[in-house]
Amino acid sequence: MVKYSFIVPAYNEQEALPLFFERTMPLWEGLDGDFEVIIVNDGSQDKTQEILNEYCQKDSRIKGVIFSRNFGQQSALLCGLQYASGKAVIAMDADLQDPPEVTLQLIEKWKEGYEIVHARHRKRAGETVFKRLTAFLYYRTLKGMTGLNMPLDCGDFKLFDRKAVDVILSLNEHTRLLRAQTAWIGFKQTVIEFDRPERAAGETKYTLKRMLNLAKNGIVPNTNKLLDFPLFLGMALCFLSLVGFAVFTVLAALGTDYGGLTAWLFPSIGFAVGLISLNTGLQNLYLAEIYKEIRNRPHFIVSELYNLEKDEK
Ligand code: UDP
Ligand code: MG
Repeated sequence: MVKYSFIVPAYNEQEALPLFFERTMPLWEGLDGDFEVIIVNDGSQDKTQEILNEYCQKDSRIKGVIFSRNFGQQSALLCGLQYASGKAVIAMDADLQDPPEVTLQLIEKWKEGYEIVHARHRKRAGETVFKRLTAFLYYRTLKGMTGLNMPLDCGDFKLFDRKAVDVILSLNEHTRLLRAQTAWIGFKQTVIEFDRPERAAGETKYTLKRMLNLAKNGIVPNTNKLLDFPLFLGMALCFLSLVGFAVFTVLAALGTDYGGLTAWLFPSIGFAVGLISLNTGLQNLYLAEIYKEIRNRPHFIVSELYNLEKDEK
């Protein structure tokens, strides 16, 4: 068993990957134990796989898992956790936005006895106001809605003790958001802070669609609160209708011309239909979730392995 495993999802990171190895390998040579770097190539269409293969041939501490297609960062992280054999496992991005030097701080905290160490973004450089705002809202909404005790502004840049890794791997749910699972499992956790630099090279892989998906996958499987929505809505509507009836009754009694009920008919119908479909839509989110769990498809499909054996998983 190696002491440290670094797990790194990589999707179209041909420019960043060489820079990543250049910065990390000399740094990690200085660690007080042996280490492995597991790069999970998440169906890249560029030269990521070829570049990774070259590095793996030169250095057996660098390991590669090649997905058959793009399964997403969360699946790549799960795969990394499965293949990692370290006593401490550190998840980080390939684009150097998770500074390699910070991994040493994570490790220091682990040595102090913490089983999960989060790295919080103090500042985020080179990112659009939109990205920063959506990230800000995302972490707060996720925490608020799930009620999970998760540190704010921490992505997936974290250290996990072997104990925590084994528990996370034992969780059965299909839709996995590592940061939510991490909060849920407990253990001794702490947070360190860092300034998030710009990407070393290439472009962000998170389009608005992917970000929305990430938000949904954090909220829906982790809370049933959305199912309460129709109840509160129904109560509110009943209350408002009663007020409306009361107002109309008073106006009618006073003989005031209030436009008549017909004028309100069309918006009322539209509103009612909108609400019904909204309710159905919300329930469908959960139905889709149940369906996905029942189907129980694999999270990813591996097509090739470099410096790794199939049963190392
Ligand atoms: N990534 C991945 N699969 C995807 C999208 C992203 O493995 O489908 C990887 C990507 O290569 C990077 C990390 O996940 O190492 C974070 O992605 P990115 O830097 O694009 O996100 P951002 O930092 O902009 O939020
Ligand atoms: Mg990035």
